[in-house]
This record gives sequence, C-alpha cells and structure tokens, in this order.
Amino acid sequence: MLGFPLPYRNELLYSTIARHGVHSGIVSPKELLQEVYGDTRIIATSDLPGHLNRIVALYPEKIGITASDLLYNNTLFPLYAPFIGEARRKSLIRELTTDGKSSVHLITGATASRVKQPEYLRYCPGCIEQQLHEFGECYWRRDWQVAGVDNCPVHGRLIDSNIPRHDIHRHQFTPVNADTCIQPEQQSGSWQSVLIARSINELLKLKQIVVPELVQWGCWYKKLAADHNLNRRSQIHHEQVQQKVIAFWGADWLTRQKLMPDGGESSWLRNMFRKHRKAFSYLEHLIVLHSFLEAGWKLADVVTFVARLQPKARTSTTALQEMDQTQLESYRRSWLDAVGKYGTKMARLSGYGDVYAWLYRHDRNWLMEVNLSHKAPKPKYEGKIDWHKRDVNTVKSLIALCNGNECRLDDPRRSKNWYLNQLKQRAGIEKHLKLLPLCSLFFDRYCENIFEYQIRRMSRTAISTVQSGGPFKRWQVLRWSGLSEERLTEPARRFLKEILGI
Ligand SMILES: [Zn+2]
Repeated sequence: MLGFPLPYRNELLYSTIARHGVHSGIVSPKELLQEVYGDTRIIATSDLPGHLNRIVALYPEKIGITASDLLYNNTLFPLYAPFIGEARRKSLIRELTTDGKSSVHLITGATASRVKQPEYLRYCPGCIEQQLHEFGECYWRRDWQVAGVDNCPVHGRLIDSNIPRHDIHRHQFTPVNADTCIQPEQQSGSWQSVLIARSINELLKLKQIVVPELVQWGCWYKKLAADHNLNRRSQIHHEQVQQKVIAFWGADWLTRQKLMPDGGESSWLRNMFRKHRKAFSYLEHLIVLHSFLEAGWKLADVVTFVARLQPKARTSTTALQEMDQTQLESYRRSWLDAVGKYGTKMARLSGYGDVYAWLYRHDRNWLMEVNLSHKAPKPKYEGKIDWHKRDVNTVKSLIALCNGNECRLDDPRRSKNWYLNQLKQRAGIEKHLKLLPLCSLFFDRYCENIFEYQIRRMSRTAISTVQSGGPFKRWQVLRWSGLSEERLTEPARRFLKEILGI
C-alpha cells in the first residue's frame, strides 16, 4: 500500500480514506475497503466511523497516532461526548475504536434526535479554493457537516454537495470534486448560524476530559434558571424560560432548526430544566446556554464546571434517594476506572470487589448497564472461533485415534482422509488447516504413507502365517497382502528381504 495519508486539520476520516483512494488510483469502492480495512463489509460512515484501530494500524508506529486522536480530531464524536455521561462516553470510545458491533448512533441519540442532520455532505467553496491553493488537493471538513451550522465563519453559506450523508452506496468513500465545488459568489449566513459555528469550533477542540453525568447537567440548568430568577424554590417558570430563549434566537430560526419549543408539558426545553433522564443534543445545549450566559462564555469552562457540580442529597425517604449523591458518584467513578483498567471480571478480583458489592446493593441498574457496555467486544466472524483451542482439542483427539489404533493391523491406510473422517467437524478442520498448526504437524508426521501401509499389511500376513504354522513364501506373503512385485515400494522390498528374510 502507498503510505496512508495523514488527515488534515478538521478533516473527516471519511475524507482521508477517499483521498487515499485517489492517491492510489483505486476506483472500486470494495477494493478501497479491502485495502484500508481488510474487510469489504465496512460501511462508509462520515460522522461516527468505527474500526479506528484498523486505521491506526496503517500508520507507522513512530508517528504515535492513536485511535482516540482520530476520534477526537477527525470525526464528529466531540459533538456528543460532553453530553452523554462518562459511562456512555467511555463505552462509545471503546466501540468506535475496536471491531465490536456498533450501536453508536443509538447511544449518541443521533438517530432519535430532534436535530435534523443535513441530508448531503456540505462544503464551503471559499475554503475549497483555499485548500487547493495551499495543499494542491481538497477534503471534506467535519465542521461543514454539523446540523445547526449553515455557514463557514469566514466565507459564508455552506453548499450541499450531491453526496448523500447516508449513502445508498454504503461502501463508497467519495472525495471532494473540486471542479464542481468552486463558485464565484457565496452568500453570507445568518448571525445565529455564525454564533453556533463558533461554539461548534470550541466543542470540536475539546480534548478528552471527564464529562458531566446527566444528573449534573440537570442541576446545572436548574441553577441557571435560579441565577436568572426564573424559579420559585424547586419550581421552574418554564414559560419565562421559553420567552427568554425565543427572544434570543427568534422564532423563525428555531423553527428552521425544528427546535421551536411548543410550550407543551413534554417540550424539549421544559425537559432540559427538569431532571435529565436522557441526553440532550449539543444544539439544544448551545441554544439554552447562549440564551442565558453572558457573551464571551467558554464551553470548556461550562463543561468543567458542570462536571464538578455536587448534586444535592435527596430529602425523600427511600433508601436510594437518601443515599448521599457524592458517595454514589465516587463509587461510580472508581468502578468506571476499574473496569476501564481491568475489565468487569478482573476488576472484582483486583481489589474492587467492595466497590462492586456496594454498587450492586445501591445502584444495581447502573452497574449492570456499565458492565454490559464494558464486556469485551465480540470478535468478528473469523475471530468468533478460538482457533488455538480448536487446534489443541483436535490434535488431542487425533493423538488418541493414533494411539488407539496403533496395534490394529487390519485398518485401511490411516491417511489424512482416514483421520479426518473420524472427526466430528471434518469440514471445519480440513478447510482451516492453515489456522491449525498442531493438526497440520500431526498430519505431516503421523499419516501413514504407502510404504508404511504396505509394510503393515505384510506384517499382518506374516504374523497370521506364522501363527497358523503354514509355509512362509515371498509370493504368498505378497498375494495375501494384496501386493505384487510391481507395486512394491523400495522400503517395503527391503523390509521383506531384511526383516522377514524372504
Ligand atoms: Zn470557508
């Protein structure tokens, strides 16, 4: 393979793969998949691609690129990471960087989200021109693909390409076509979009940090309402919150984003100021944060602050609710660290048994969910079978067959086929001998070849002749052994002469 290209800053990994196809002159999508992933079934995903470990393996080790570097720098993962809680963030990282089956779009809520994803990959003609000038080629940037951002902060409105984001040609990585992308005029975007674009840039730059739990986000928004006197004790004045948000963004823009709060009991904005039962999208967070915070606020500061919030202990009477929330968080964090380091099973045996036991008593649902997400990913087809184990077990059966039949002189020739026919999974063994070194060695060493079989047959005849006290003639031994002078191999001839003396 020609060297796999390094991604440009903010380039989608999807785009890097497409560029590799162009550099290597590969036209067939399947061939490109085979070359990059070694697997033609991989789906070309632009926002949250998986199997990052395989991409990392394409780079020389000394460059030091890791799967999470790619995830944080060249996918849209940072848009979701701060808002889904620490357990989910970690399990998603695991899912996207290894070969496990991906439920990523479900976990991030990308599929069920109210935020409408752009239908096509988008580009900024001004940036394309700049890329061509600077690098001699162009690429898909990830910040062009973010729902809620309709323009490039420098050049103006983003343009839809004709490449669907969720392509019907699901295995194709399509490069930017510079010829169709350069346009003389570019309209400017709305101020709302410019504002969101700036926050998105901050969000995309957020490095791997511990992110807030959903319960902490819930506390944060309650606190925000209280800071603006939009509450009475624990009651939030939802209508005033809604007025504030609409006054900031304008109803038109919110409607275009499909995020105009309808004032109903289950509106997303109301739920945002209640206990968070599920994650909200980055766009919903940004809409509220901009409406409430002073201009110039920094996203990184908010995330760090929220992650340190200590939810108040509950006043209700049930055991779980009485439990000190801080204690709960601390147990949860130690278990997350432990399973991250040792895996679920070994964590219990590596000094975290008490943490497990405590969480099992007090927070069983959470514990089960975390453990499930930290299960070692199921290996893919070839890996599903433990070939080493199969090799050892099969060779044991083969040795037992060999030993058990050694003294039986009447058997047909004990060829590879003969052994295979005695095994339960003949096809599984025969077709995969390359993966079974012990079995291969056994066959090389212990299968009976022609001269050994001839000698065995002659020994059998000789023994029965001697036992019956009959004459011991060369022609008789040959005939009763089903052999002839012509078919006799050289070692068998020597056996007749030197051992049997005829
Ligand atoms: Zn631009």
